[in-house]
Amino acid sequence: MTKFKELSKEKVSVFETNLSEYWDSIDVLNKSINNRSKDNNFVFYDGPATANAMPKLHHMLAKLLKDTFCKYKTMQGYRVLRKVGWDTHGLPVELEVEKELCFLNKTDIEKYGIEKFNKKCCESVWKNEKAFSLLTKRMGQFIDLDNPYVTYDNKYIETEWWILDKMFKEGMIYEGHKIMPLCPRCGTALASHEVAQGYKNITVDTVVVPFKLKNEDSYFLVWTTTPWTLIANVALCVNPQEKYIKVKSQGYQFILAASLADSLLGSEYEVLEKYTGKDLEMIEYEPLLPFLTVDKKAYFVTCDNYVTMEDGTGIVHIAPAFGADDAEVGRKYNLPTLNPVDEEGKYREGPWAGMFVMDADLEIIKYLKANDKLFKKQKMEHNYPHCWRCQTPLIYYPKPGWFIETTKIKDKLIENNKKVNWFPSYVGEKRLGNWLENLNDWALGRNRYWGTPLNIWKCECGELRTVGSKQELINEAIETIDETIDLHRPYVDNVHLTCPKCSKPMTRIEEVADCWFDSGSMPFAQYHYPFENEELFNEQFPADFISEGIDQTRGWFYVLLVISTFVKGVSPYKNVLVNDMVVDKDGLKMSKSRNNGIDPFELMDQFGADAIRWYFPSVSPVWTPTKFDIEGLKEVNSKFFSTLKNTYNFFTLYANTDQVDPREFEVEYKDREEIDRWLLSKYHKLVKQVTEYYDIYDLTQVVREIQYFVLEDLSNWYIRRNRKRFWGNELDLSKKSVYKTTYEVLEGVSRLIAPLVPFISEEIYCNLTEKESVHLADFPQA
Ligand SMILES: [Zn+2]
Ligand SMILES: [Zn+2]
Repeated sequence: MTKFKELSKEKVSVFETNLSEYWDSIDVLNKSINNRSKDNNFVFYDGPATANAMPKLHHMLAKLLKDTFCKYKTMQGYRVLRKVGWDTHGLPVELEVEKELCFLNKTDIEKYGIEKFNKKCCESVWKNEKAFSLLTKRMGQFIDLDNPYVTYDNKYIETEWWILDKMFKEGMIYEGHKIMPLCPRCGTALASHEVAQGYKNITVDTVVVPFKLKNEDSYFLVWTTTPWTLIANVALCVNPQEKYIKVKSQGYQFILAASLADSLLGSEYEVLEKYTGKDLEMIEYEPLLPFLTVDKKAYFVTCDNYVTMEDGTGIVHIAPAFGADDAEVGRKYNLPTLNPVDEEGKYREGPWAGMFVMDADLEIIKYLKANDKLFKKQKMEHNYPHCWRCQTPLIYYPKPGWFIETTKIKDKLIENNKKVNWFPSYVGEKRLGNWLENLNDWALGRNRYWGTPLNIWKCECGELRTVGSKQELINEAIETIDETIDLHRPYVDNVHLTCPKCSKPMTRIEEVADCWFDSGSMPFAQYHYPFENEELFNEQFPADFISEGIDQTRGWFYVLLVISTFVKGVSPYKNVLVNDMVVDKDGLKMSKSRNNGIDPFELMDQFGADAIRWYFPSVSPVWTPTKFDIEGLKEVNSKFFSTLKNTYNFFTLYANTDQVDPREFEVEYKDREEIDRWLLSKYHKLVKQVTEYYDIYDLTQVVREIQYFVLEDLSNWYIRRNRKRFWGNELDLSKKSVYKTTYEVLEGVSRLIAPLVPFISEEIYCNLTEKESVHLADFPQA
């Protein structure tokens, strides 16, 4: 009779898929939750994923981290609920649909109809959901795919309305005019954390242009990287503390910063006069591109400390419509604001009307040259923000819009961030910490269609009001609506409220919320709090553990912190594990154009999910970029997995041949041979260390410790030196002892590795114990 089953000889993909089906059949996830006490929760939040693109290799890394620590804590005795999340709103989704329908801009969408368009968006969200669910199952991640939270769900939106209503009533939301980064293609303003994601190096034409003084035959030399803004120029600006000079060069008289004269003019100039910046203040000059009319005093020199001597001429031009610093100077000197550009980034007046401003640079340079107004043209590479979704260069633009006054709670955000344990710590201290120190208000509104509609209604008398629930909307609506109303556009656009001030009908403002507001609301909205599940919410807030990529620092991590700090006064998470990118073996980003991407499904078919899961943290700590090398992955199989399997095979071969079952006898510790006690002591040390490393989220050390133990201590040293004891004829104390010791250690190792490699650990554990699952077992105690 065979006591211990042989390891599977099937193809690894078949073996793992079968095991995955077995887990479904015994409902292992729910069992592992329900066999733990409700009073002992370890709370995990899943960052909502977008399923409108195919899953990539880096998704596997993110998922394995979430999964490993949830499984580990479960084995430690905690109850770990696992609700999966889907991020479904926003521009990325709209862009996909626009592409599919060959739309060029928002006019096309409105012609097509918002109702139809949003319906398409809603469908497109699920395009690759099956692939994501398959990835989840295939890699052995335990998460509840049957009860997800979905950000477009009416209940989810209702919770967001509740939060927004609370913010509005507490004076945290305002309509402002700010110079905002605008994507001219998407026609929408971007929040600063979105801008931070889209910086790219581009080459631009920079120009140095001469501005003629009003009553004198001299010129201010001014450098700009955005010639298209020159048409909106209303002032120049110098640094009041710096030194400036008037020089004679090439037959002209120029004024510029003393420290920059050499680099611009060479040595061929004669200094005529010297000034400080302050001396130049209020000197008037003639407009360079005189196509627009001003309604206030303009065209004079201003002073501000933001002007630096790093490059250019030390004199900058001021166009208050197109830069935050410019707008600030404009306010200080009461300058007019000229804005000849529409929201699609095209000039609406002047000689270049109809042209996209960045395309107009060349035409403007031609014009300057033809009119003897170009001192110098120079190509320059600079780091410029682009739309993170459609890659269009952003323009800075004055825009009315709705904001959350996050600066009001800045101190509290900083304080709450300091209480979070970040792994690694510098993400919290530096990356998010610096971000919070330089916090801007959150541009909340998006002039788009597929998103959570802002629940703000406006009257022509200027009165504003918000609603905080669906029921309130039904009660207050002028039109007759009922429970079935979909809270999306365009349905909600057709609902009007009565103005409390003048009794006229109020109309909803058009904007929808930044989709980051959706994902940041998930601690509340995933349970439809406070409308339902109050007890569940209280038990599941805040999270003990979240884990996402480093790109989420100013994304999900930030918005979660803002919303929970406002609603509950605390951070919604206690421990954050941050992973960096997966790059190819040469350190290059995986991309379609390089053709160095790796399909996670093909990889799993070839090597098995376990091998990949073990390989990732073995390369380097997950918070550094992982250089993915197939050779390294092969080595995981040939070294660690095969040694572990060989050890198991050796043990079971002799146990089965000799009919020895170590479960049927005890051997007291004192009766074991010295080498057995040595192995047990090594094993207990390993358990202690591995537990400590799991507790500080350091899987690289977990992997290295276990690998060393299995390869060196267990296989190379212990098994090799004790082979003869397995072969002994009599089942004497020595033979019993070696079997007992090997059994205990192998069984223990299967539990130590179970959180990270769920398949092979399950097979070894179940074969050795005949129990239902290693994932229902407890973690070993040292
Ligand atoms: Zn865009
Ligand atoms: Zn009114």
